Amino acid sequence: MSKRAHNFCAGPAALPDAVLQRAQAELLDWQGKGLSVMEMSHRSDDYVAIAEKAEQDLRDLLAIPSHYKVLFLQGGASQQFAEIPLNLLPEGGSADYVDTGIWSKKSIEEARRYGDVQVVASAKDSDYLAIPAQQEWRTTRDAAYLHYASNETIGGLQFDWIPQTGDVPLVVDMSSDILSRPLDVSRFGLIYAGAQKNIGPSGLVVVIVREDLLGRARSHCPTMLNYKIAADNGSMYNTPATFSWYLAGLVFEWLKEQGGVAAMERRNRAKKDLLYGYIDGSGFYANPIAVPDRSWMNVPFRLPDKRLDTPFLAGADARGLLNLKGHRSVGGMRASIYNATGLDAVEALVAYMAEFEKERG
Ligand SMILES: *Cc1c(COP(=O)(O)O)cnc(C)c1O
Repeated sequence: MSKRAHNFCAGPAALPDAVLQRAQAELLDWQGKGLSVMEMSHRSDDYVAIAEKAEQDLRDLLAIPSHYKVLFLQGGASQQFAEIPLNLLPEGGSADYVDTGIWSKKSIEEARRYGDVQVVASAKDSDYLAIPAQQEWRTTRDAAYLHYASNETIGGLQFDWIPQTGDVPLVVDMSSDILSRPLDVSRFGLIYAGAQKNIGPSGLVVVIVREDLLGRARSHCPTMLNYKIAADNGSMYNTPATFSWYLAGLVFEWLKEQGGVAAMERRNRAKKDLLYGYIDGSGFYANPIAVPDRSWMNVPFRLPDKRLDTPFLAGADARGLLNLKGHRSVGGMRASIYNATGLDAVEALVAYMAEFEKERG
């Protein structure tokens, strides 16, 4: 096989080698049927079996209770920013949102197009370096739902706790940390995740929704954005993103083979401990996020002088350590270390960081 680099891209992100090899092996001739998954009818028995197995494997991995629907939709996580209010925010109602960074802000801006949005807590006061404690949130008792982003992919801030909202349904953007560790799905009304970080190819979005939240869509909600219609049609009201769904299924199978989300948690903990431990000990690199709120998946870090960024990135590229440039709004570096990025990649990164620090520090 050709050489595979260590890919630290925030998204679309690295996929497991084993998944890509399997997709390659099956590309022209899926399981002896003489055609590619891309060329199958989504209504065929073969494809329906692929789709159902993917759903079942995801249900197994996250122990999703039976009164939740799992939807495989299109338009990425960003489509959900509108789809959520269209389905869950009644005319004249209001919804609570928590602002912890750029993705939260985008969801807030979009929801404002559909109704009253209360920003009940914001990390702005800390310059987006810490998640506001729940005691400080000013939640609305009769909110239609409360929305937050469990992991801010750009800022590198992650909740290590689940908000308590009583009877108010909890809605979470889990695009960049779903499947990275075990999760109590029953705490949520709706979980959504764009696929290209921890699930599969971009464009696909997975929605896990409690059944009692279906059937509340506004009358003008487009058919394609109505959760109930999607659920009633097994996410096949129209032609779904068949190949992306299949690939997500291969990732779920791979996750099960690895020991599931408990094994992922152990691996991801070792990866982030190594990287943050090195950064904190170096005196050369820095990560400014409050320690309990540091993301396990996206690790932004800075060098002591911006002029070192370009040589750092060039040296990284030369060693096959790709996509370490931070988001343009944050600057510096960012290493995204999702499930498919192994401890070996983080070890290679830390070795290079030490080498660079020795040369330039
Ligand atoms: C990547 C990302 C999104 C946007 O996903 P798209 O599929 O590009 O719409 C939204 N929220 C979070 C937390 C993300 O990481």
